[in-house]
Amino acid sequence: MSRISRIAAGLERPLLVTKGVNVRYLTGLDSSNAAVLVEPSGEATLYTDFRYAEAARAIEAVTFTETRRHVIGALAELLAGREVGFEAEHVSYASYDVLHGGGVGLTPTRGVVEAVRAVKEEDEIRAMRAAAALSDRVFGELAEAPFVGRTEADLVWQVDCRFRELGATASSFDTIVGFGEMGARPHGHARELPIPEGTLVVVDAGCVVDGYCSDCTRTFFTSEPEGRLLQLYELCLRAQLDGLAAVRPGATGRDVDAASRVAIEEAGLGALYGHGLGHGVGLEIHEAPTLRPESEDVLMVGNTVTVEPGLYVAGEVGVRIEDLVLVTDDGCERLTTLPKEPVVVG
Ligand code: ZN
Ligand code: ZN
Repeated sequence: MSRISRIAAGLERPLLVTKGVNVRYLTGLDSSNAAVLVEPSGEATLYTDFRYAEAARAIEAVTFTETRRHVIGALAELLAGREVGFEAEHVSYASYDVLHGGGVGLTPTRGVVEAVRAVKEEDEIRAMRAAAALSDRVFGELAEAPFVGRTEADLVWQVDCRFRELGATASSFDTIVGFGEMGARPHGHARELPIPEGTLVVVDAGCVVDGYCSDCTRTFFTSEPEGRLLQLYELCLRAQLDGLAAVRPGATGRDVDAASRVAIEEAGLGALYGHGLGHGVGLEIHEAPTLRPESEDVLMVGNTVTVEPGLYVAGEVGVRIEDLVLVTDDGCERLTTLPKEPVVVG
């Protein structure tokens, strides 16, 4: 079944899709100014302006209507008097006002296209495998040279350059490299400070291949692994393996998240693990489903999610280990395949 048919099958009223990545998913059109109206019958109309008209006209799955530059303004007139669902988490108040003011009946919807996007098709999985393999290679290269004396910003630059040189179209988010106290900030910013011996360096990076993202984190030692740093690392790895073992179809995001917390809580360190276990990945770096204490999402075969527990000692050091996995019939398959024994990058 086509993507548009799968969306249409669940609709009670037409759905106006305006989130750019969802328009791209349904039509293949990459436009900053487009919308798709999906009818419950399975018919769909694509609206965009002159700049994208040639590409839009070539798309067979939809009827194309060229609009003026302000697509939302045009839709307010074209859909006046109709009742449509809209993407409540995406449509701005200003756009809502224009549509409503034009006489379009609006019913909020949440996550309709995202729910379909969460289950990957073969070609999507192929792209994600390629992105994960490319990032594996870049992480492997990174670990071959010493970190000590180089800066976080220098390592970020190396990772981003290698992604592009090896064929990725972009990094899937701002690459994170943080040693010591910066590693204790899950989303810290790279500094121009030399990396010292005797610390942990968190590297979290991913790249985009054929439109699809990868996501991976490894934590490196700049001296022989021992003492408290090794204990923290081994506890994080235990949590990560427990999380991986809990990923399977039918499990809820909450269940899998909980499995990753058992060992950390037994060690009395639950307070150091302050974020959810993971998130879906695909066209976007964060998408459905989510693995968090409050997540009711139910995992399905074909979901691609991260498993990334972390321990953060504020002002001191952090450790996080993350794999991207594909949910399979009997569990999951790792798409990022780097080893997870402690690695020294002295
Ligand atoms: Zn990550
Ligand atoms: Zn992640």
